[in-house]
Amino acid sequence: MSDHVLIVGGGLAGLAAAVALCENGVRCTVLESRPRLGGRASSFPDGHSEQWVDNCQHVAMGCCTSFHKFCKTTEIESCFERQRELYFINPDNGRVHRFAVSALPAPLHLAGSFAGLSYLTWRDKLSLAFGLKALAAKSSALDPRPFSEWLRSHRQTPRAIERFWTVVLVSALSESLDRISVVAARKVFVDGFLRHRDGWAVDIPTESLDELFGRRVPEWIEAHGGTVRRQAGVERIEVSHDTVTGVQLKSGERITADHVILAVPWHRVAAMLPKPWDSADVITKLSHLDSAPISSVHFWVDRPLMNLPHAVFVSGLVQWVFNRSLTRTEGDGPYYYQVVISASRQVLEQSSESIRDQVLAELATVWPVVNDARLQHWRLVTEHRAVFSVTPGSDDLRPPQQSPIPRLQFAGDWTQTGWPATMEGAVRSGFLAAENVLAHLGRPAKLVAVDLPTSGLSHWLFGL
Ligand SMILES: Cc1cc2nc3c(=O)[nH]c(=O)nc-3n(C[C@H](O)[C@H](O)[C@H](O)COP(=O)(O)OP(=O)(O)OC[C@H]3O[C@@H](n4cnc5c(N)ncnc54)[C@H](O)[C@@H]3O)c2cc1C
Repeated sequence: MSDHVLIVGGGLAGLAAAVALCENGVRCTVLESRPRLGGRASSFPDGHSEQWVDNCQHVAMGCCTSFHKFCKTTEIESCFERQRELYFINPDNGRVHRFAVSALPAPLHLAGSFAGLSYLTWRDKLSLAFGLKALAAKSSALDPRPFSEWLRSHRQTPRAIERFWTVVLVSALSESLDRISVVAARKVFVDGFLRHRDGWAVDIPTESLDELFGRRVPEWIEAHGGTVRRQAGVERIEVSHDTVTGVQLKSGERITADHVILAVPWHRVAAMLPKPWDSADVITKLSHLDSAPISSVHFWVDRPLMNLPHAVFVSGLVQWVFNRSLTRTEGDGPYYYQVVISASRQVLEQSSESIRDQVLAELATVWPVVNDARLQHWRLVTEHRAVFSVTPGSDDLRPPQQSPIPRLQFAGDWTQTGWPATMEGAVRSGFLAAENVLAHLGRPAKLVAVDLPTSGLSHWLFGL
């Protein structure tokens, strides 16, 4: 019999590990506790609209190279639409700024659009240019301070902080600036904006997350020799003579395996390990990893509100609004929009109705038609532990994929990937765990995709 790998958890990390192992001819089984796959990137049936509604709009960026490789392999790449322009709303007058690349190489490709942002003064822009240059320096990755302190010490103007740094980082990392490490902030700007012309491009799914990660990817895995079991919650990892032997399901069923990849959220790990492994140093550290919530307001109205695919709000409660009805045809029912609020702790302190009203009032300042539209249905969804917090020092709490137990790998956005909690981080972790398994089997392979190359000018200017 060939080696058998059990993958516990059918989020993106577990799915990516399964895809990589199937591609390399290794027998594997994904065990997911819920009836649906995709984990934190999934959808649920909305009874009222009769639609599959994403737990929250997910987007990828051009710099997410392993995620793109995963989508290409599983043939879902065509289910994403690349945004060639981003639309920023001027907080002073509600006008739309189009943000797009020029013909210049990185890091100057966005300079023209940046210069055109009339809600920042030239003084703000100058301070930002100096700030970005300082952040790109390799030495800034070692700075132990919260990013808010770093910004103050680099003389960033209050308006630049509020209307630029906060806007980009809160939506990318889902944390407030006083809880973001300098290294995490640097990662966003270097990979997303400074290294390569395509890094910043935003890819938006055209299908529900359930269609992608709940149906198409599992079908691909099964067509390539893997097995996917839903509603197969794992109670504990079984270890004998200091090596993993399999798992016990909540139903009592036992499954043996040569290797196990544990791809559940970080706060579930300790309870699934036997003593004394549950109190190993790396596991104890995990309990100090903090988390941040993300909320989304979904609403359906009787008329179109905007003709843009999305818009980025620069101040207020709304951060991004996504138009899920742009390609709507006659008879498709009401118009569906989704507003995303990252690091949404303030949402938790208010009633859902109050959040809905604030969101609609902010949208109406840009699109007055919102005041006339009839709200047919709405819902507020909050994922309380949406992402782990990239607080200073959080990288030291993240374990490598090889666990302290031989033949047990960890996978999940929370493991050491060099990335914050993203689909890219999750996929990378799955690939890295699969690389370790393949190395054990004597068939080493490089699975993580290479980063986008650094432009010559960025290399010369910043030493990237
Ligand atoms: C609201 C929200 C918005 C986001 N927006 C973006 C975005 O725009 N772009 C982006 O890149 N990222 C985004 N993210 C982050 C991204 O979704 C996550 O980083 C990624 O999906 C994590 O994948 P994972 O596999 O590591 O973990 P998870 O998705 O948490 O998967 C873990 C899986 O393990 C299963 N499980 C748990 N316990 C057991 C058990 N005992 N037995 C079997 N299975 C078990 C769970 O049910 C789950 O399916 C967002 C996240 C949220 C919540």
